[in-house]
Amino acid sequence: MLNKHVRQSVIVVGGGPAGLTAAIALAQGGIDTVLVGRRPAAGDNRTTALLAGSATALATLGVWELCADKAAPLKVMRIVDDTGRLWRAPEVKFEAREIGLDAFGHNIENCHLVEALERRARALANFRLIEGEAFELAPDEHGVTLALKGRETLRAPLIVGADGRHSLCREAAGIAIETRDYPQVALTVCLRHSRPHHDTSTEFHTPGGPFTLVPLPGQRSSLVWVLDPADADALIALDDGELSDEIERASHSILGKIEVEPGRGRFPLTRATARRFARNRIALVGEAAHVIPPIGAQGLNLGLRDAAAIAEVAVAARRAGRDIGGFNALAQYDRLRRADIGSRTLAVDLLNRTLLSDFLPVQGARGLGLYMLDHIGPIRRALMREGVAPRASQPRLMRGEPI
Ligand SMILES: Cc1cc2nc3c(=O)[nH]c(=O)nc-3n(C[C@H](O)[C@H](O)[C@H](O)COP(=O)(O)OP(=O)(O)OC[C@H]3O[C@@H](n4cnc5c(N)ncnc54)[C@H](O)[C@@H]3O)c2cc1C
Repeated sequence: MLNKHVRQSVIVVGGGPAGLTAAIALAQGGIDTVLVGRRPAAGDNRTTALLAGSATALATLGVWELCADKAAPLKVMRIVDDTGRLWRAPEVKFEAREIGLDAFGHNIENCHLVEALERRARALANFRLIEGEAFELAPDEHGVTLALKGRETLRAPLIVGADGRHSLCREAAGIAIETRDYPQVALTVCLRHSRPHHDTSTEFHTPGGPFTLVPLPGQRSSLVWVLDPADADALIALDDGELSDEIERASHSILGKIEVEPGRGRFPLTRATARRFARNRIALVGEAAHVIPPIGAQGLNLGLRDAAAIAEVAVAARRAGRDIGGFNALAQYDRLRRADIGSRTLAVDLLNRTLLSDFLPVQGARGLGLYMLDHIGPIRRALMREGVAPRASQPRLMRGEPI
């Protein structure tokens, strides 16, 4: 039974990176913000390649200065065709300086990013963190009543649902989701190596999916290895020495001797897109709205653009004296996010499927695409610019402008 109502301006559900970023942006925009976050069950050993716009947004929010020393720049990105197939693509190398940047972005361990976000959020006067679990949400014409498991009940005109892929907020908003599972999992591990990475990320395209090494500070890198689930389980069962040898073999020793660090992640590959990104006073951000395979470092970069966009819309509505969770504000948010999320999801899906395909013309088309990228400068530079700063969506924060 929902009885004791406490009025708040915005409630964010979910204390992952997307929820924390939305909460900081809202609070900095002058909106009283409560974040309800459940502690994650297990440690997250993943890293995030934050593209330039995301790092700019975090700098504008005062977060980047708290974690920049834990991040490594990504100056060069290499794609190497390791499929061993008849029609192989040439190696393609993208350099950030070709488009006038020092780096495409920075790679950081999720634990350091979340810690910096939490520190920044706690320092804001109009931010309150409730460590707890949202249990029930009841939207009505004027607001949403949110019951916390075993605790108080909150109410706000707008809820930001940042509660991940199995989102209770999405369900409460009555938003359907389209899901597709791939026959692959991503194995994640951080590692030390004897040779320097030279700020270069290398993606080997293998028949099972990409094997991607991304630089971390010093002689360390993170690995995302997309492969068949049975092969992933066999690798996870190996001891540290055996796994290090397998990784060294698969990486053709480009980083020299490999030594894996403790912690291995296993993530089934899924694509999921909510039919709408906001409804019934609930706006979805991050994986509550979209899940894409970890190929091309797009997932959280999209999630941060969601966070920046909902804060921009809500703050503008409040300043104009309009309803921050009303139909118009939510429709505007949905419109702002549609093209960006749709185009990234499609691109990652196509790339992954061309790798898995045994159909020669598909392999040929992929090889030709990469050949064109390698040989035609304007196409390559346009792709690099689009990867770093998508034309479909550049919220103010991504441009370095406060909300
Ligand atoms: C292997 C791998 C590599 C990746 N690499 C990159 C990359 O390089 N670049 C990139 O941009 N993206 C990357 N991604 C994607 C990125 O990791 C995700 O987009 C991101 O972690 C999602 O963040 P989120 O805040 O939306 O969700 P989550 O991190 O899932 O956070 C949701 C939070 O909500 C909480 N929660 C859930 N339900 C409730 C409830 N009822 N009440 C209260 N709290 C609740 C959960 O406990 C959790 O803390 C990668 C993904 C994978 C799998």
